[in-house]
Amino acid sequence: MELLFLGTGTSDGIPVIGCDCISCSSKDVRDRRTRSSVYIRENNIEILIDASTDLRYQFLREGINNIDFILFTHHHADHIYGLDDIRPINQKWKKKICCYGNNKTCNDIRKKFPYFFSCDQLGGGVPQINLHEIEGPFTVEKENKKVSIIPIDVYHGKIRINGFRINNMAYITDASSIPESSYDLLKDLDVLVINALKYKSHNTHFSVEEALMQAERIAAKKTYLTHMCHSIKHRKLENSLKNRSIYPAYDGLNIIC
Ligand SMILES: [Zn+2]
Ligand SMILES: [Zn+2]
Ligand SMILES: [Zn+2]
Repeated sequence: MELLFLGTGTSDGIPVIGCDCISCSSKDVRDRRTRSSVYIRENNIEILIDASTDLRYQFLREGINNIDFILFTHHHADHIYGLDDIRPINQKWKKKICCYGNNKTCNDIRKKFPYFFSCDQLGGGVPQINLHEIEGPFTVEKENKKVSIIPIDVYHGKIRINGFRINNMAYITDASSIPESSYDLLKDLDVLVINALKYKSHNTHFSVEEALMQAERIAAKKTYLTHMCHSIKHRKLENSLKNRSIYPAYDGLNIIC
C-alpha cells in the first residue's frame, strides 16, 4: 500500500499569510505545509482522505489524475473545501466519486455545497459525488478488487470525528482525545499518522507532547505527525525525536506500508 502525504499543515497552511517567523521564512521545503490530506493506493484503488483547500495544487504537484473514493475525517473547511476541484476527475473518467463521512460530516457537506445536489448551476459544471453516511466498517470496490476501511471514532474537542484504518495503517487528524473503545482498533499497526498541532496545549487538537503520548500507547512500528502549525520547525522536531520511530511528516512524503 502506498501512502502519500499531500498536505501536513494546519488550517492556515505554512507559510501563514503575512508571517515571517522561523518556519514561515524557512528555506527547508519540509516547512512548507499545505492543508492536511493523504492519498492512498491499495489494490490499484486510489483513495483520498479529506479534500483539502489545497487539493488542486496538491494533485498537480504529485501528478495525481484519478481518485476512486474520498473519505472525510470531518466537516471543517480545511478538510472539505477542495471538493469543488474534483470536477476534472469526474470529466476525465466520466464517473461520480463515492464519498464517505459520518452523519455530521455528510450533513455539513450538503449545507456547504447545496449546488452539488441541485440542478441550477450550469456552466463550469458541478462536482459529481455520491455521499455515503458511515457508521461502522465498510468496503470499497473497483474492478473486483476491494479495500476494507475501518472508521475510528476520535474527538476533536467535543465533536466526534473519524480516523480511518486501512490494513495496518491508521490516519488520525484533528483529534484531541481518543475514546477507550477506539484503542482496540489501533492494535498492531505498522504505521500510525496522528496530528500534532503545536508544542503548547490546545483544546481541540493534540499538542506535540500529547501526540507522542498517544504514539507510545498505540505503539505502531512507525508514527508520523501531521496537521502541524508554524510554531513547529521540521528539522528541530525531527532531531528531538531521534531513535523513537516517530517522525514529522512533510508534504510529498511517500511511504510504502
Ligand atoms: Zn484541520
Ligand atoms: Zn509563521
Ligand atoms: Zn478540524
